[in-house]
Amino acid sequence: MKNQRKKISIIGSGISGLTAAIDLANKGYDVQVFEKLNTYGGRGRIINEKGFQFDMGPSWYWMPDLFEAFFNKHCKSTSDYFNLIRLDPSYRIFFKDQKLDSPADINEVYKLFEELETGSSIWLKSYLKKAGEKYEIGMKEFIRKPSLSILEYLDIRLIKSAFQLQLTRSIESIIHKNIRSEKLRMWLKFPILFLGAKPKDTPALYSLMNYADLILGTWYPEGGITKLFDALYSLALEKGARFFFNSEVSKINISQDKVNSISLKESLEEIESDFFISTADYHFTDSQLLDKPYRQYSEDYWNNRVIAPSALIIYLGILGNVEGLLHHNLFFDTDFYRHTDEIYDSKQWPSSPMFYICAASKSDKKVAPEHHENVFVLIPIAPDVEDREDSRNRIFNNVIQRMENILNLKIRERIVFTKFYSINEFKSDYHSFKGNAYGLSNIIKQTAWMKPRMRHKKIRNLYFAGQLTHPGPGLPPSMISGEIVAQMIIKESCRYDE
Ligand SMILES: Cc1cc2nc3c(=O)[nH]c(=O)nc-3n(C[C@H](O)[C@H](O)[C@H](O)COP(=O)(O)OP(=O)(O)OC[C@H]3O[C@@H](n4cnc5c(N)ncnc54)[C@H](O)[C@@H]3O)c2cc1C
Repeated sequence: MKNQRKKISIIGSGISGLTAAIDLANKGYDVQVFEKLNTYGGRGRIINEKGFQFDMGPSWYWMPDLFEAFFNKHCKSTSDYFNLIRLDPSYRIFFKDQKLDSPADINEVYKLFEELETGSSIWLKSYLKKAGEKYEIGMKEFIRKPSLSILEYLDIRLIKSAFQLQLTRSIESIIHKNIRSEKLRMWLKFPILFLGAKPKDTPALYSLMNYADLILGTWYPEGGITKLFDALYSLALEKGARFFFNSEVSKINISQDKVNSISLKESLEEIESDFFISTADYHFTDSQLLDKPYRQYSEDYWNNRVIAPSALIIYLGILGNVEGLLHHNLFFDTDFYRHTDEIYDSKQWPSSPMFYICAASKSDKKVAPEHHENVFVLIPIAPDVEDREDSRNRIFNNVIQRMENILNLKIRERIVFTKFYSINEFKSDYHSFKGNAYGLSNIIKQTAWMKPRMRHKKIRNLYFAGQLTHPGPGLPPSMISGEIVAQMIIKESCRYDE
């Protein structure tokens, strides 16, 4: 088989690097993955300390059908690797004066809508029906195009679908037009926050996120999200991919408009390959790994992108039970609009932020020592704000105080483990541009062919995958990004062989 001789070097072993490695190794390519850190997973790594196991980044397992389809493609199932449980309720929202649990059963959701606003469930039913259609077209067709050019979308069927997808109307305008209750509005707008943009700037296409939430549900792999990464790593090894950890790529070497090799930091060795994929932060690859004549985007280009929020994450180990929390909890007891303005417009540390808590120990006793809770607190913050200890501490105090008030519990004195992670760590661990957590915001002018390209404009054997290119941030899109790039290389390499 001709392909077996072809070598692929992949920079980074996050979800996009892992899925690209699996698809290419499966086709017989000789795949090597170079990872700066000491393990795989990237933003999906874990912290294992003092008996607590924290998923460092992703905690919501949404769109289980897409992960299942990936494993099925390789004649496997997620159930070969982990036990997936559907959470019910999916999550709890704390408002100022009320808490609301989002039921797994959609009929219970409709009942709750009616309780909060008469007639709203009728609208919700038709909204979710359309959202389901968008999910099918958006996540299974649109998203899988390499998006190198607008021409890929000039197909009459897809143009028709684009109208159906509502690419130009904002999701907020649709929700606000049809729903009066501020609580219901917040409930429907929360999944949009995953997309790293304000709901008023996010196209209505993304009502597909409401479908993912309310119809497809919130799932949890027993043992943590890390089980997904363990499964992907084990499948990659089974397919023959080789991994080199503590192996930071320091340069992409080009001659005659072709990448010949990559250099590793603190090593004289140069690794030659036929194709190269960078899944490291796109801005870093473009501006630091490539020589100036080969950079595709100027600093002005990057500075004009809308970057998704960064985050302050506080990993807490707490003695005893934290009553009142579910596995997933959203603290919307504050001014939503003020917080989003502070992130996107005034770019300052939030005064009294919305925050999210994942207490995985509520469903999984293995992630905390006996009689302890595993509490992950995530506060969205503006990318590139000055990351100072006093700002972190102020937010920490604000969050603990509000948790104590809302839950009516003593928490501070029961904290036995604390670790902070924010902009400085995103930069030092991942070379993250402006310390971003989730890449670029999913606004219309940063969608599909308007994203940083998946293949270098001039260098045909250099490809990009991961959350800063198409389709964008989140585990499912980043996984699909790895699949698209593998498919592009397979096609291109067949052309070489002809
Ligand atoms: C706090 C947080 C919470 C999140 N929550 C969710 C969630 O609940 N659900 C969800 O679906 N998504 C969530 N996401 C988003 C999701 O985790 C990411 O979109 C996805 O993991 C990105 O994968 P990636 O492969 O693009 O990049 P990464 O995971 O960042 O992988 C890139 C890899 O490249 C390596 N690298 C960088 N530079 C070099 C170099 N020079 N040489 C070698 N290696 C290098 C890095 O070390 C890293 O391992 C969250 C993200 C964060 C940060």
